[in-house]
Amino acid sequence: MPHPIFAGVGAATLEKLRRLGIQAPFDLVLHLPLRYEDETRIVPIAEARDGGPVQVEGVIVSSEILHRPRRQLVVRVSDGTGELTARYLHFYPNQARLLAPGRRVRLHGELRAGFLAPEMVHPRFRVVAPGEPLPSTLTPVYPTTAGLAQMTLRRLIQRALAGMALDETLPAPMRAAHALQGFEESVRYLHAPPPGADERALAERTHPAWRRVKFDELLAQQLSMRLHYRQRRARVAPRLPARGTLTRRLIESLPFRLTRAQEAAFREISRDMGEAHPMQRLLQGDVGSGKTIVAALAALQAAENGYQTAVMAPTELLAEQHYRKLSQWLEPLGVKVAWLTGSQKKRVREEALEQVAEGEALVAVGTHALFQDEVRFQRLGLAVIDEQHRFGVHQRLALRLKGDHPHQLMMSATPIPRTLAMSYYADLDVSVIAELPPGRTPVATRLVADSRRDEVIARVRNACMEGRQAYWVCPLIEESETLQLKTALETFERLKNTFPELKVGLVHGRLKPEDKAQVMDAFQRGEIQLLVATTVIEVGVDVPNASLMVIDHAERLGLAQLHQLRGRVGRGAERSVCILLYETPLGPAARERLRIMYENADGFEIARHDLRLRGPGEFLGARQSGVPLLRFADLEKDQDLLEAARETAKEMLERFPDHARRHLERWMGLRHEYLKV
Ligand code: ADP
Ligand code: MG
Repeated sequence: MPHPIFAGVGAATLEKLRRLGIQAPFDLVLHLPLRYEDETRIVPIAEARDGGPVQVEGVIVSSEILHRPRRQLVVRVSDGTGELTARYLHFYPNQARLLAPGRRVRLHGELRAGFLAPEMVHPRFRVVAPGEPLPSTLTPVYPTTAGLAQMTLRRLIQRALAGMALDETLPAPMRAAHALQGFEESVRYLHAPPPGADERALAERTHPAWRRVKFDELLAQQLSMRLHYRQRRARVAPRLPARGTLTRRLIESLPFRLTRAQEAAFREISRDMGEAHPMQRLLQGDVGSGKTIVAALAALQAAENGYQTAVMAPTELLAEQHYRKLSQWLEPLGVKVAWLTGSQKKRVREEALEQVAEGEALVAVGTHALFQDEVRFQRLGLAVIDEQHRFGVHQRLALRLKGDHPHQLMMSATPIPRTLAMSYYADLDVSVIAELPPGRTPVATRLVADSRRDEVIARVRNACMEGRQAYWVCPLIEESETLQLKTALETFERLKNTFPELKVGLVHGRLKPEDKAQVMDAFQRGEIQLLVATTVIEVGVDVPNASLMVIDHAERLGLAQLHQLRGRVGRGAERSVCILLYETPLGPAARERLRIMYENADGFEIARHDLRLRGPGEFLGARQSGVPLLRFADLEKDQDLLEAARETAKEMLERFPDHARRHLERWMGLRHEYLKV
């Protein structure tokens, strides 16, 4: 049942409104103009200048339909100071009837010098009575959709503005603290600015009225994130304090020393796990910064307390690798690690499931299969989610329900720019490993056009003959996985023929897990020198002796993927090279991406560019499904407002919870319920 404000609106129009995101009266209030037209003034024809839009008013002296040079309606209008010609190349019969001689009209359009008199092509017109008053405000032009007239939108929005109490949700001291103008004043202004308003500030959305609306939007997001965070934090989780028995032994047994950043991150995690409510921490660290060992330590801390850990990865390849790393580290300490995937043999799987259910395995590693209902933990204390940006909120949720409320550690190698961390990720605590282990040499990136493929081949041969190992990453073919597979197979055959003296391997997504594991093993042991791979190796693969990577058709890949792939080399002491082989001609976007890859090694910098090029919607990927995107605020341009909103949200929840609730209801409505799940 639509709200009375929509009374009399037909089903077709309601559907069009829905397409614009308008369902409730407040959606109308927030349907803000794209731009304005100034119909508040009438310019005498004699004074009207070429160029910008003007409005004139006069009486029609003649109106005729010409057929040469093409069919058109030509209307001549005089206002006593001069005459102009209005020309309509497309017109309806009733328009021609309305524009009859003797009628008084207002024309709005751009004036050009014409053959005899100045002309307007397709001016908007309105038949008026003499002395009809002019509008006192600028006329808004709203975003619309095919078949929905501006007039309809204007009428409905006017109705909503007249019929709704736009009460202030921001307490006065907070408005004052950030010099914000009133909410009602702001939206009314935006829908109907007075003549002479600063149109540039309105267009650029820097006007104080716009700032207030953007602030409110950001505030709603902050409030919702904070509440979400609080609600989860209010739940009870097992206390898993650091005992140091197992973790210390692992640290002592490692062939390397933890970096300071790793130590600091683990300290934060360790402290969180000792509390009686679920940790919700995001561990960020660039590719190769050593997040896995930190996760292993967290798992051991759970194990010290007799609790289990679930470790999840987005791909089988990565899960398998985690499984190996973790068993290698943990099993000598007497902590059993189970492996679960979607594709393993039934018997093997059942055995693993039983170990998990009985609590015999204290760590379970797997892909999404872990989320499936049949997996029961005896005492799940910690969930580690690697590459968390690939999982949607729902999957995180499904897992949480398996334990009471396990502590959650999410890991991401796609660094999240600060503005995003402050907004869309504001419901998580964040630890950052901002340093790479010592002894790494930076990867040199080369951009090479496809015409020089031979040189690249020679380079691969030399590297492998000298005992190093290389990856050859096959082009991404988005339209079809089958085609992608075909390309990988062809590339593999071709390279095998090109390098008869080398052992060449192939790994792709369709390979059976045991075959995949076998190839990766052989590569790890150095038996395979050149590994042809699809982008399945993008995440997590760790073979330190591999120091050369060729990415074929690099122009097809996005920045995040390129960065992840490049991170597969540069893991040993050997100087590594990543060759981005591209096909010419390059489009502007691809050129820009390759340039960014060439100029930047730091994942945070690359992520910042990625966010700039793609916008938050694309960047957020899976997470987006649970979090409404910002419509008005721009994270890059409105950083000051973001900071202000963050501060305000915190204070508002403490001091003015009623205001906070009203504000959330206004902005989030039902969506807020969704976020709470
Ligand atoms: P990522 O953060 O990309 O997941 P990994 O955890 O896979 O990185 O670590 C990359 C490599 O660095 C692994 O081979 C790991 O054993 C090694 N490593 C981790 N920490 C250190 C350290 N402090 N010193 C030396 N090597 C380390
Ligand atoms: Mg990793």
